[in-house]
Amino acid sequence: MRSTAGGAAVAIWCHCRVFSLRGTLFAYKPDGMERAFILYLAALIFLIIANAFPFLTLKAQGMVQPSHLLSGAIDIARDGMPEVGIAVVLFVIGFPLAKILIGLAVVGPLAFGRRIVGANALYRLYERLHPWAMTEIFFLGVLVSYTKIINLATVEIGPSLYAFMALILTMLAADSAIDTHDVWERLQPSRAKALPPAEEAEQWVGCHTCQLLCHLPAESAHAKASCPRCGSSLHRRKHDSLNRTGALLLTAVLLYIPANVYPVMTFVSLGSGEPSTILAGVEELIGAGMWPLALIVFVASILVPMLKLISMTYLVLSVRFGSRWHLRDRTVIYRLNELVGRWSMVDVFVVTLLAALVQLGSLANIVPGAGIVAFAMVVMLTMTAALTFDPRLLWDAAGANHERR
Ligand SMILES: [Zn+2]
Repeated sequence: MRSTAGGAAVAIWCHCRVFSLRGTLFAYKPDGMERAFILYLAALIFLIIANAFPFLTLKAQGMVQPSHLLSGAIDIARDGMPEVGIAVVLFVIGFPLAKILIGLAVVGPLAFGRRIVGANALYRLYERLHPWAMTEIFFLGVLVSYTKIINLATVEIGPSLYAFMALILTMLAADSAIDTHDVWERLQPSRAKALPPAEEAEQWVGCHTCQLLCHLPAESAHAKASCPRCGSSLHRRKHDSLNRTGALLLTAVLLYIPANVYPVMTFVSLGSGEPSTILAGVEELIGAGMWPLALIVFVASILVPMLKLISMTYLVLSVRFGSRWHLRDRTVIYRLNELVGRWSMVDVFVVTLLAALVQLGSLANIVPGAGIVAFAMVVMLTMTAALTFDPRLLWDAAGANHERR
């Protein structure tokens, strides 16, 4: 571990022996709270504009089909798939809005040396929302949809799309302006100024949410204990991790079959059309010469879900059988699963966008298919499986760590 002072900013890095990479443990960001507060304020304004005006407008043979940010989710819910519609609304608007509002309510007062009642619980929720707010993935879906319909009709970009791009940039800037460790310390400073003695190490656990070092005597390991700062439950290992991860993976494997066999949408032009699966959608992009996009959709929608299912199943089985093989590589596999899994939602967003845009009467229509429900479920289940799996079990099982579940 070491620190550097570059200008006014100070960062402390750990040299991770698992990844042989440097990860930031703590980074002091001057005026981070103030900058984040202003950026969240701007993000809220951009989110309101993104919902107030047309997002994309399709024009073909005298017909005009405007669509708003939420049009796709509403249309797919009307087409008998309310679960997909609700998921899209939550991932694209609900969770980003919750992040912005919590950022304003918690980080804003902290910037002025104050804190609101319930700030700790709100910030705990903010941290949990992070992987589920998917504005940047939705934008990739917009790019894919745009290239799919550009040959069919004229596509006009509305003011909402520009506001949505500004929303993504301001939210990324706000996230990078905040140092989470600093927020928690300002909400409630940790009392321990030194590490506990080595002989007591097994009586202390780090909170999964706020990283507070908490005393958890061995005799109370199985009793319910909560973090005194954020209220999260304390445990040496995630509760019942293997069984929960295994059950989620098994359900995802079963749903992966209908997700790829059933059509995700049907394109009807002049009264005729063929239902199309996820793989057929990739072939269409290749046929249109859109190789880079075809590659992105193939990787995000076919390769990543399949590799996630295989690799997570392998990780669970390797813990079950106490494997000592390639511990470091298996931990890297887990981190990659956590990082890229959410990008598979791009195909769900593409189908909802196309279903909203291509409503041109007898000229052309796109109808969502049952496969998209199964596919959305596979993505959500594998994301949850990655969250329920505790990677420390890999090291426990190999006997490289004294702790046991
Ligand atoms: Zn905590």
